[in-house]
Amino acid sequence: MTKFTDLALSPKVLKAVEAAGYETPTPIQAGAIPPALEGRDVLGIAQTGTGKTASFTLPMIHMLARGRARARMPRSLVLCPTRELAAQVAENFDTYAANVKLTKALLIGGVSFKEQDLLIDRGVDVLIATPGRLLDHFERGKLLLTGVQIMVVDEADRMLDMGFIPDIERIFSLTPFTRQTFFFSATMAPEIERITNTFLSNPARIEVARQATASETIAQEVVMVKGGRRDSVAKAKRDVLRALITHEGDACTNAIVFCNRKVDVDIVAKSLKKHGIDAAPIHGDLDQSQRTKTLDSFREGGLKILVASDVAARGLDVPSVSHVFNYDVPSHSEDYVHRIGRTGRAGRDGKAIMICAPADVKNLDAIEKLVGKAVPRAENPLGSEPEAAEPAKEGKPKRTRTRKPKADKVEAEASAEPAENKAPEAKPEPEEAKSHGGRGRGRDNRNDNRNRTVGMGDHMPSFIAKSFDERKAS
Ligand code: AMP
Repeated sequence: MTKFTDLALSPKVLKAVEAAGYETPTPIQAGAIPPALEGRDVLGIAQTGTGKTASFTLPMIHMLARGRARARMPRSLVLCPTRELAAQVAENFDTYAANVKLTKALLIGGVSFKEQDLLIDRGVDVLIATPGRLLDHFERGKLLLTGVQIMVVDEADRMLDMGFIPDIERIFSLTPFTRQTFFFSATMAPEIERITNTFLSNPARIEVARQATASETIAQEVVMVKGGRRDSVAKAKRDVLRALITHEGDACTNAIVFCNRKVDVDIVAKSLKKHGIDAAPIHGDLDQSQRTKTLDSFREGGLKILVASDVAARGLDVPSVSHVFNYDVPSHSEDYVHRIGRTGRAGRDGKAIMICAPADVKNLDAIEKLVGKAVPRAENPLGSEPEAAEPAKEGKPKRTRTRKPKADKVEAEASAEPAENKAPEAKPEPEEAKSHGGRGRGRDNRNDNRNRTVGMGDHMPSFIAKSFDERKAS
């Protein structure tokens, strides 16, 4: 078995690795570090949790230890899809470069340009950035990319999902073509393949096993809930989620709850809190200081449950999560692999429980096809009759409940969500994208069932309801 000491890394880097407590390189590290140190381009097909960050930071630190940065001309560049991932890469540099003098700057949204400009002006060896923010600095004339000797693209498939590929291509074209490139992606979509063919030169290709097939330490389960009206199904899912968390008891030391949509992240976090479970949301619409605070508290063990969207959680390094709860079945089956990979890390035991409504069964099928086995069905902790209403019979308007028990207030708020946010087929928004779109109609505009006119649906203009007699009279 390869040891770190076999990898031709400098003694100073090896000392930092040892201090971090690592002896044996992970497969991506053993595969990527030697060609990287030889100056070759590297194409790493690996996802978070495999140790991929160290597979590029260690050789970079080794190679950048000699030489000095010039003002506004970073010597290396690491591109990450999200601020959290960028911050995490920066932490890795801090850990592994403890014995080497290297300067670095982090260019991410939510931090003032002024502070970042100051750092860049002084000259940095390592610049870690999200693509949009990097280009903002470049366009303001504050940054030159012609001194970049090493460029890293991390989580390229996520960049693709978030629409960053044109930015990445532009950034590639702004750096010298003699640069060394390290490129990481969990999957090789055709668009990613095209980019690597265009911008990488004869790369060493290292592919590591997918987590879902590799990690046998994750116990997986799925709990089925009954179908019905969307708001009833959503409520039933929240009830089941709470029951599952309670049922896991002390075994659930900390957990990530994944939702497909940002709006549900907020609702679920609020609902858990309302019922006395320590939870907080994280998604791209929350401001950066809030996100950082929530994450820090989760990492430090202050917060028990993090409710997250896929993009916000992607690449987050939280080493000891006991449970992952999938409040929704992810619509992209690869996301299931990423989500459950947050638990059972580094050989630890982990548990991943998913909630599945009838509308999600087709997505569950796709996941089972991808992971190559059935996800074991677990009993619904609330019994076989979760509180979901029967599907509405066609043509019959549903009776609405007029009185709600007090504890259901959050659920009531949840059902007041705009209609477009509730569609199960609605695609999750890219995390950094702005608004949720237009708001739905408010309660006041809803027509009372008693005044319903057949064929007008909910949008009956008020004049239609006026009686002819009334018109005559006026
Ligand atoms: P990453 O895939 O880069 O997000 O890393 C996942 C986790 O593995 C992080 O917590 C790292 O600190 C940890 N790690 C990185 N390299 C090693 C190693 N050689 N042995 C054990 N854990 C590692």
